[in-house]
Amino acid sequence: MTQRALVLVDLQNDFCAGGALAVAQADETIGVANHLIEEFRRRGDAIVATLDWHPANHGSFASVQQQPPYTTGELDGLPQTWWPDHCIQHSSGAQLHPLLNQQNIDERFYKGENPAIDSYSAFYDNDHRQKTRLDDWLRERQIDQLVIMGLATDYCVKFSVLDALALGYRVDVVTDGCRGVNLRAQDSLAAFQDMAAAGATLYTLNNWLEMQDQTLA
Ligand SMILES: [Zn+2]
Repeated sequence: MTQRALVLVDLQNDFCAGGALAVAQADETIGVANHLIEEFRRRGDAIVATLDWHPANHGSFASVQQQPPYTTGELDGLPQTWWPDHCIQHSSGAQLHPLLNQQNIDERFYKGENPAIDSYSAFYDNDHRQKTRLDDWLRERQIDQLVIMGLATDYCVKFSVLDALALGYRVDVVTDGCRGVNLRAQDSLAAFQDMAAAGATLYTLNNWLEMQDQTLA
């Protein structure tokens, strides 16, 4: 019997409407998340959330680098986009979206705490120097199948999915539960193509729910 988990990526205020790094239509993902949470809870499957969780002096911040936001440079030897200050630890912008059904989240995983390097993936920092607790937590529970959605498609969702596949998980991505930054117009589309090419299966919420019903029938 395969064990599975829902992984909700960075459904935080700063990535939603009115936030410091607002992603277009991000709030529309919250209803999709709540639907999946209900489904996973009903079946007794695990539900986890990741949170971008930066110190105020984080090296990815344009303000820290004194560069214009959304331009690019290099952080500790890696290519880096300079972001507006976002998801500062304990700030209201770093909190999960108020309409997200948070009481059913089993565990939260924090990333981006080291000011010297950015951490898009739920599993590692951007240079794979350090691992978060997520992989160990999943393995302790014999979870080998993940359903991933969240913000943003072209950064934290994409790298979480690619790392999960490399770590040997089976990964479904719920595409309408994701929205992208799209610094270039095609970035989200390209990100979904990269995830699929690496072995992820892409679903809309409705397709995914139908597939569950067929599996049960
Ligand atoms: Zn960040």
